[in-house]
This record gives sequence, C-alpha cells and structure tokens, in this order.
Amino acid sequence: MQYEGVLTKMQTEYGDPIQYYLVFEDSFLNVNQLLGKDISIDFLGYQCLNCGKKKKIFRQGFCYDCFYSSAAVGDWIMKPELSTAHLEIEDRDLEYEKRVQLQPHIVYLALSSEVKVGVTRGTQMPTRWIDQGANEAIAILEVPNRYLAGITEVALKNHYADKTNWRKMLTNDVPPADLIAERATLENLIPEEAKEYFHLDKNDLYRMQYPVLEYPTKVKSLSLDKTPSFQGKLMGIKGQYLIFEDGTVFNIRSSEGYVVRIQV
Ligand SMILES: [Zn+2]
Repeated sequence: MQYEGVLTKMQTEYGDPIQYYLVFEDSFLNVNQLLGKDISIDFLGYQCLNCGKKKKIFRQGFCYDCFYSSAAVGDWIMKPELSTAHLEIEDRDLEYEKRVQLQPHIVYLALSSEVKVGVTRGTQMPTRWIDQGANEAIAILEVPNRYLAGITEVALKNHYADKTNWRKMLTNDVPPADLIAERATLENLIPEEAKEYFHLDKNDLYRMQYPVLEYPTKVKSLSLDKTPSFQGKLMGIKGQYLIFEDGTVFNIRSSEGYVVRIQV
C-alpha cells in the first residue's frame, strides 16, 4: 500500500491505546495498524501549509515569508503572556487574535519527561498532551483568555520545566510523579489576577496509553532533508513521533509541509 501527500501533524483519538491518523488530501491512514511492520518514507518536496507554494519549509509547516506574516504564528503562540487581544491591541490580525486568544485556556501540569507546566486552549485537551507525549496530565486552572494563562505559566516556570526532553520522553525514561499532590501545592504561586480560577476539587487526571511495542534505549532523529529515503520497522508512536526498531525517531510535527510517499 502506498500513501502520498503533505505531512501534517497526526490526528489523534484518546483511547487505550491512543489512535493515530495521518490525514492526506484524498486518503487517511490509521498509523497504529503499521506497528510491527516495515515501512518506507520518501521525501518528495515541500508544500507550505499556508500559501501552498512549493517553497522550502522554514518552521511549523510554513515557508519563510508565511512564517513572518501569517497571524497564525505570531509570538504570542509560543509566549502566551504576550497576548494582547483582551486589550484590543493588534499583533498581526486583531480579528484572528481575538478569535483564538479570547476563549477558555487551560494551564496544566504534564508528566512528559519530568513535570512541566504548559498552556493550551480548552478545546485542545487532551490532544495537546498526547502531542507532547505526556504520560499523565492535569489541569491547574481554566481562565477566560490566553493572556491570563500566559502570566500564570510564567509564574510557574520558576518552579517547573516548560519544555519536554524528547529523548527521555521517547525512551520512556520518566520518573513517576503525583500530579494531584503537586497541584495542591501551587495555589500561592498563582498570580492574583488568575487566583479566582484555581480549583482543587476536580478529579481530572488524564493517563495516556501510547501504542508502543517496545521503547528504544537510545534514539536518533530522522531529518528528511539529510536522509530523503528511510526504511524501518515501526515499533511505536508517542507524542508526534514514529519510533523505529533501530532507534530512529521521526517527528511528524516538525516535518509538517514536507511532501512524502509512505509505503507499507
Ligand atoms: Zn508560504
């Protein structure tokens, strides 16, 4: 079987285990079905997810020009505390920014490589945690806009990591942690403006079960720019990574906008 198209991050379905789908223009593929099988990935070219042109991908599936002009990749995406739509202040496109920023956001703790803090839109839960490869996650508070979530995250970053160590996540070298107990210690760290949204009473711990036959002990990352043809036996899927028998890991998310052929 052969699939061809532009890579976009895998769609996921929360379940035991989580289901992963690669969605192409005229077909889709349940990646879980490929576990234990040999597959090949061939790089065919680039296609910007924003303008559709065959230009080299710069970041997040966008070509250079789109990355620096599209409202969908402003600085407030990576740094939620820079959000200004609640003040009616425009970054690149105020209407777009209002739509995205002025909606419920969650500040959470996730156990991906260690306990980390993060921000996501309420609608992105638990998708965001699956994409990060978190084994467990729990919401700390839900606030009405991205700015409040951002300043809360900044305050908590002094006490927790805000990035995942992808090598540890992919080898599942993750020491246990009690996120419910951890959350209970946080109240004093939350900024005054956000304190009213902090609730302890919810029992909403998520546990993610990834489809992994066997975790590798060492990983090396596949870059299609350097290795345009790859073949290997798929041993697992975690976060947005495919994990192969020889320890090669392929980050689908950082390959968005790459046109590929996948053969099974
Ligand atoms: Zn573009």
